Amino acid sequence: MTDTTRPPVPFLDLKAQQARIAVDLRRRLDAVLAHCQFILGPEVAELEAELARFCGAKHCVGVSSGTDAIQIALMAEGIGPGDAVFLPAFTYTATAEVPLVLGATPVFVDVDPRTFQIDTAHLETRIAAVRAAGKLRARALIGVDLFGQPADWPALSAIAQRHDLFTLDDLAQSFGATLHGQPLGSQADATATSFFPSKPLGAYGDGGALFTQSEDRAALYRSLRTHGEGTTRYEVLRTGMNGRLDSIQAAVLLSKLTVFPEELAARERVARYYDQRLGNALQTPARVPDSTSAWAIYAVLLRDGAARASVQAALRAQGVPTAIYYPRPLHKQPAYRDQHDGTTLPVSEDLAERIMALPIHPDLTEADLARICDAVVAAVG
Ligand SMILES: *Cc1c(COP(=O)(O)O)cnc(C)c1O
Repeated sequence: MTDTTRPPVPFLDLKAQQARIAVDLRRRLDAVLAHCQFILGPEVAELEAELARFCGAKHCVGVSSGTDAIQIALMAEGIGPGDAVFLPAFTYTATAEVPLVLGATPVFVDVDPRTFQIDTAHLETRIAAVRAAGKLRARALIGVDLFGQPADWPALSAIAQRHDLFTLDDLAQSFGATLHGQPLGSQADATATSFFPSKPLGAYGDGGALFTQSEDRAALYRSLRTHGEGTTRYEVLRTGMNGRLDSIQAAVLLSKLTVFPEELAARERVARYYDQRLGNALQTPARVPDSTSAWAIYAVLLRDGAARASVQAALRAQGVPTAIYYPRPLHKQPAYRDQHDGTTLPVSEDLAERIMALPIHPDLTEADLARICDAVVAAVG
């Protein structure tokens, strides 16, 4: 039976969030409108300091998007043609797009079937294969912290060190997560995050940031985000890009940072509610040991693709939205499959068939959660 009596549950509720920060947000935006330094204004420097403190990194450089953050990090290492960049096949397209834009070759690695994070044993296999083939230089590893949870950074860093790889943490989905008691942001040589509006810490437009412990890298990132500028504006030292962060986005983020810890706690409460109510009905997400999640996405697994399609339809009829991250692993995407060496990545391929995301955000009410879980239990039945 279709539920026509109630409006659908919002998959994400940015209006409710805006109402919670309304006064501070208005004050912040008015300040930008008063000084009119719209790009790299004082809010950007203030935000960089706050974010660095939040995640325990020495340096933070605000940039124009998560994708541009990844690009600047790889440009700073001079990564380009002939270089292999290892990354998971089960992630958002931007992770693989950037190496290709720079002329490098993405080498896709499978993920763990329980946590969905990059499979460290398979990474070793892939590195060995690239070395044995002798066509590409093994240069970099982009570890993605998928869906809010951390990748296994101690293991990834050890592998990277053995093979002399630059490590980049793609933290776009997981800013605010912790691993072994430490916030993510300083586990890799550099960390890139995104402030796309739907991310756990989202702006009102595009934005991103880079974190590093290295002063030299931070200086390079600042130069690269402004067309490779030197110490004066019209000295061009290197080929860079237009990768700057807007003051208005920084103002929004400063305001949202004031409620971010309580939002993380609220997301965790939603995840626990789902774990308890749905754990017997379907496969709920496995937690990465000794970590906390930013819960960008709460993804469950259905029996197969047909079961997923029918559950999604049943939930839609009950006003419960779902989404699929990701319906196709990157090595099967038309844009990337010619770059792939043909290795099957069975876990990524299987997840794409069966995975389904439920709404998770800080403004879900008890009533929303009960409604969602009742509908899921009935649909899986
Ligand atoms: C969102 C996302 C990006 C890109 O961030 P943008 O700010 O949208 O450019 C990169 N990697 C992952 C894993 C993402 O989820």
